[in-house]
Amino acid sequence: MRWWGWGEDGHSVPLPPAAEGLLRDELGADPGVRKPPVPFEQVRLPDIALPGPALEKLKATLGDDHVRVDNETRVAHAVGRSYPDLIRIRSGDATAGPDAVALPATADQVAAVLAICAEHGVAVVPFGGGTSVVGGVEPVRDGFPAAISLDLGRMAATVDVDRTSLTARLDAGLLGPEAERRLREEGVTLGHFPQSFEYSTVGGWLATRSAGQASTGYGRIDELVEAVRCVTPAGVLDTKVTPASAAGPSVRDLVVGSEGVLGVICEATLCVRPAPTARRYEGWSFASFAEGCDAFRVMKQAGATADVNRLSDEDETRLTMALGSTGSTSEKLGKRYLRMRGHEGGCLAILGFEGEEEDVEDRRRRTAALLRAGGGVSIGHRPGEAWERSRYAAPYLRDELLDRGVLVATLETATNWSNLRTLHAAVGDALRTVLSGRGTPPLVMCHVSHLYSSGASLYFTFLARQEDDALEQWRAAKTAASEAIVAGGGTITHHHAIGRDHRQWLAAESGPLGIEVLRAAKERLDPAGIMNPGKLLP
Ligand SMILES: Cc1cc2nc3c(=O)[nH]c(=O)nc-3n(C[C@H](O)[C@H](O)[C@H](O)COP(=O)(O)OP(=O)(O)OC[C@H]3O[C@@H](n4cnc5c(N)ncnc54)[C@H](O)[C@@H]3O)c2cc1C
Repeated sequence: MRWWGWGEDGHSVPLPPAAEGLLRDELGADPGVRKPPVPFEQVRLPDIALPGPALEKLKATLGDDHVRVDNETRVAHAVGRSYPDLIRIRSGDATAGPDAVALPATADQVAAVLAICAEHGVAVVPFGGGTSVVGGVEPVRDGFPAAISLDLGRMAATVDVDRTSLTARLDAGLLGPEAERRLREEGVTLGHFPQSFEYSTVGGWLATRSAGQASTGYGRIDELVEAVRCVTPAGVLDTKVTPASAAGPSVRDLVVGSEGVLGVICEATLCVRPAPTARRYEGWSFASFAEGCDAFRVMKQAGATADVNRLSDEDETRLTMALGSTGSTSEKLGKRYLRMRGHEGGCLAILGFEGEEEDVEDRRRRTAALLRAGGGVSIGHRPGEAWERSRYAAPYLRDELLDRGVLVATLETATNWSNLRTLHAAVGDALRTVLSGRGTPPLVMCHVSHLYSSGASLYFTFLARQEDDALEQWRAAKTAASEAIVAGGGTITHHHAIGRDHRQWLAAESGPLGIEVLRAAKERLDPAGIMNPGKLLP
């Protein structure tokens, strides 16, 4: 991945033609503004403070080639891929970059690296794909003189499928596309497609309790995991491969979501499904977000959902339509049809079905009947297919917006259905109030995208003209939204995890005693406290 953004050099996704006008009209952004990243030579890294004996031992254990201290590798491991991360790295600030990057190839080598770092007081930051959006991979020294990134990239060989049980044992360093390609060769799929799929890893998904875009159908990663192997400074946690167990509190679940603060997840056994032979993506329209939420709730509680279920609120729908607009005759006819049905200014929903042909058609029939009864109007396959084609485009577009001096950030939560719309309004209001108060009125939009029988997630995207102090502007917005989430009864994170950015709100989630329990586990597994300091635990 390029050091200042998303994707590889030479691959970008241009903004749609309508975007420049929209940014000017809605945000007051100056279309002439360009804020490119600084040249690589201007990126600032800290001096290498890794004790000489530690470096020598790491090299002796992993081989010289697998302990990197060059600037390119250190910068690539300095930050994750949140908006503030990108603001800082584009301005040349890699001052938190690791002293070295270690690339072990086996769980035994991971154990050896942890032992060396514990002996020499070096912080260790597990690094999967580096797509954290909560500050999870940025090295925080927290009193340690040096920090290394432990990159799982070489631990990406094993994909061992048990066709009978429909499980697969996967190495933690496998990137999404490679994991899925190897599973497809065996005729199965994990069905886990976060928007960061192209650059995130199996271990990262588990460490952050990730949810893919099709989580309603396939399940979140924590619902798909059967067993994990986690190497900690105190030894190996190897949990049993079993479909279910009543053997006390789940050690596996202590590891899942542990964000690298307890140890390094080296492999996992995950549930898979036969690869789908049929896929149907389609669009629906609702007169309002409230109507769409009710229809989605009824659908989910009736046990008849698609695999991907997304409902955009009015603002997200308006922006999606405006950016996708071609002005064609069929589009104008489509808009007139929606107006006649009272859906002008309404909400777009995308449903995606995957599976066997018969199952897909059966579920489509059942959901269609429920959505129609809830006021939904089918708008055909084109919006669904357009969404599917561009499902990984957002981070590329974000780079384009950053180039134009636009604040573009996302945050997410979840709550019960009875509270969903109140929380939606509260978080939206908090973002609008704080940013408007700073003189940069934002565009705030949201969608529901992961359904549960008791509730759903809310995923907010907000855009504004970037202030001179872009980090302070983002921090003010993030704080206001997080306070609104906590006060409004939402979880501080539905799938982005805690990292550094959400730490101060963990107590509101787990309670002080809950945090003490987690701390006690960390002290037992990581007595020297070297594992990813400054993350997860406040
Ligand atoms: C554009 C974009 C879209 C995103 N979309 C989604 C989405 O749809 N759903 C979603 O859930 N998340 C999403 N994310 C967030 C992020 O991609 C996920 O948190 C992902 O699971 C991180 O995987 P990774 O391999 O990149 O982990 P990293 O970013 O490398 O690490 C994340 C955290 O896990 C720890 N860690 C990583 N690997 C291991 C390991 N093997 N053992 C122990 N700890 C480890 C790290 O220390 C860090 O604390 C998105 C991020 C971006 C930038």
